[in-house]
Formats: sequence, C-alpha cells, structure tokens
Amino acid sequence: MSRIYNFSAGPAVLPEEVLKQAAEEMLDYNSTGMSVMEMSHRSKAFEEIITDAEKTLRELMNIPDNYKVLFLQGGGSQQFAMIPMNLMRNRVADYIKTGQWSKKAIEEAKIYGKVNIVASSEDKNYTYIPNLKNLKISDDADYLYICHNETVHGIQYNEIPEIGDKILVADMSSDFLSEPVDVSKYGLIYAGAQKNIGPAGVVVVIIREDLITDDVLPGTPTMLEYKIHADNKSLYNTPPAYGIYICGKVFKWLQKIGGLEVMKHINEKKAYILYDFLDSSNMFKGTVVKKDRSLMNVPFVTVNDELDAKFVKEAKAAGFENLKGHRTVGGMRASIYNAMPIEGVKALVEFMEKFEEENKIL
Ligand SMILES: *Cc1c(COP(=O)(O)O)cnc(C)c1O
Repeated sequence: MSRIYNFSAGPAVLPEEVLKQAAEEMLDYNSTGMSVMEMSHRSKAFEEIITDAEKTLRELMNIPDNYKVLFLQGGGSQQFAMIPMNLMRNRVADYIKTGQWSKKAIEEAKIYGKVNIVASSEDKNYTYIPNLKNLKISDDADYLYICHNETVHGIQYNEIPEIGDKILVADMSSDFLSEPVDVSKYGLIYAGAQKNIGPAGVVVVIIREDLITDDVLPGTPTMLEYKIHADNKSLYNTPPAYGIYICGKVFKWLQKIGGLEVMKHINEKKAYILYDFLDSSNMFKGTVVKKDRSLMNVPFVTVNDELDAKFVKEAKAAGFENLKGHRTVGGMRASIYNAMPIEGVKALVEFMEKFEEENKIL
C-alpha cells in the first residue's frame, strides 16, 4: 500500500486514522456482524451513530440549543435551491458574489425571487473579499447569503458582515470545521461533506429553530423542506448512512486533536509554509490578495501556462496529486484541508523549490 499526498479540492483527503478504523469495522461494526452500509437506518446501532455524530459536532462548534443539526443529501448544490425555497418569504434576498460557488447559488436563487448583489469581487476575477462595511442590505430581503470560502478562487472571509437582526446564511462547504465559528451569528450554515469532513453524499445543515417552518414556497417538494428533516431527526427517509458514520469519526478525530482552536492553529501553520514560499519565490506566485487568502485552497501560478503544465505533470510523478487548478481559472491549486498533514505541505514546498532551481528563469 502506498498513499500519495492528495491536494484535491474535493472529494479530498481524509484522516488516515479514520480510514483505518472504518476498514477495521468494515465487515463487523461493533459486534453487529454487519457493515454500517448494510444496517437499517432504524436500528439501534445506527441511531447511536447519528446521535453521537450530532453530539460531537455540537460540542466541537459549541452549537447553541436553539439550532438544529441536519444530515441531508443532494450536496452543497441542492442547498442553493433549498435555502430560497424555505427562507425566501418575501421573494427577495441579498447575495455577496465572490466566485464560482456564490455565483451558482445566485443563479439558482433567481428562479425563486429577486436577488440583489450587495457586493462583488467579479471586477478582479474574484481575487479578494469585497468591503463589508456599509453594505446596502435591502429592507425586504429575507436573508444575506455568503460563501465563506470560495474553493475555486481561494478566498476566505476573515470577518463577517454586521447586519443586525437580518439573517445571515453561509456556505461553509470548503472550510467547515477548519476553525472555530460563532454559530449564533448565523441563521443557517451548511457544508457539503466531501471537502473537509467526509465522503460525498452528506451535507450538514445547522439552522436556527425559528427559521424552520411550514411557510415554504408553493411547490416545494417534501424532501426539500427543512421542517420535515428537523421533525424526523434527519431520518424522514433513508439518510446517507455510511457517510454520516464517517463524518462522525472525523468529528471525533477533531475532538482528539484538541478541537477547532487547535485545528485552526495547525491550518495556519500549514498555510503559512506555502504562502511564505509563494511570496519569496521568483517563479511561483499566489493569485489572491494577501488579507483574503484561504487557509484551505491555495491557488498559484508560475510564469506561463507551459511551465504550469510541466509543474503539474512532474509533481504528479513525484506523488503530489491533483494540483491542477480548476478548469475555469487555470494555474495550480493546492487544497490543504484539515486532514492534509503538515509533512505533505513541507514536501510540496521542497518539491517546488527544486522545480524552480531546475527550471531557472534566466
Ligand atoms: C464543492 C462546493 C459546493 C458544491 O458541492 P456539491 O456537493 O458538489 O454540490 C458548494 N459550495 C462550495 C463552497 C463548494 O466548495
């Protein structure tokens, strides 16, 4: 067996310890004589798995009692529709446009109502987070939507807009559990699992209780009502059971590390190693405004496309996988999620130094 360093943006690297445990329990989970994939979602064993996953997540994030935790399906993308269907009572919402993922959410929301773009960084190809002071929040807007970490462009909020008692909704798919979050500042937080917490197929939604109502847009399918899932503790229908089980193990792994404060510290250390090199290199350069750099997704370029391609090819041969940038932006991107060990980042930087030396620009 040999594991490579996987810098994929998602599905992405998971903690080796978690994968090993899952392998050990594959044929016989906790003396049930079956795999978690094979068991009834109504069984006692699974009830314990989902209850425990929620409990650990609540402890990790300090989730207040007046918030529900839901384990749903449909990925991050289904939330683009579910949010307006459940929350757009006035059929108006404010969005901040910071890249591909917020853009997709905006396009979807337009199906259901009026969307105001209250800030955008489109003018500079989404390389910064717009100024959050004096946002023109619309009086009649049902919520303000942000994408907390734009996976493709590598920009991340390091503060959030102050919007009084307006509802803040955040897509945290690619930086969920990478650092502490004050949940009470949000009406709804969601995260697709396959970036930072587990296998594709699960999306975690944390939603304030007063936002969970029957008052949804006409035509909303039952499966897309938060209330149905909240009332049934995420067991209205068969949930993504195996995925929830792995997420639960990742939550436990985070707890063992020391929680989100410690995780943040480790993430900062990892990111610093890479950004520090990018700032000092004559060949490699980060593409994002310094203050808004993501701790999770690090986009960078060399001096031209040919050299970029050569780098990606040679890196792959050396055991650094998935460094090619997103197809819409080019260049390279190293995703250094929670489970990427610091050794992986150090090895990558050493490889980049060597590449720069061997391909000296004269
Ligand atoms: C990947 C991603 C999504 C979409 O996730 P899917 O599960 O593929 O639908 C949404 N938002 C962000 C920030 C992402 O990184």
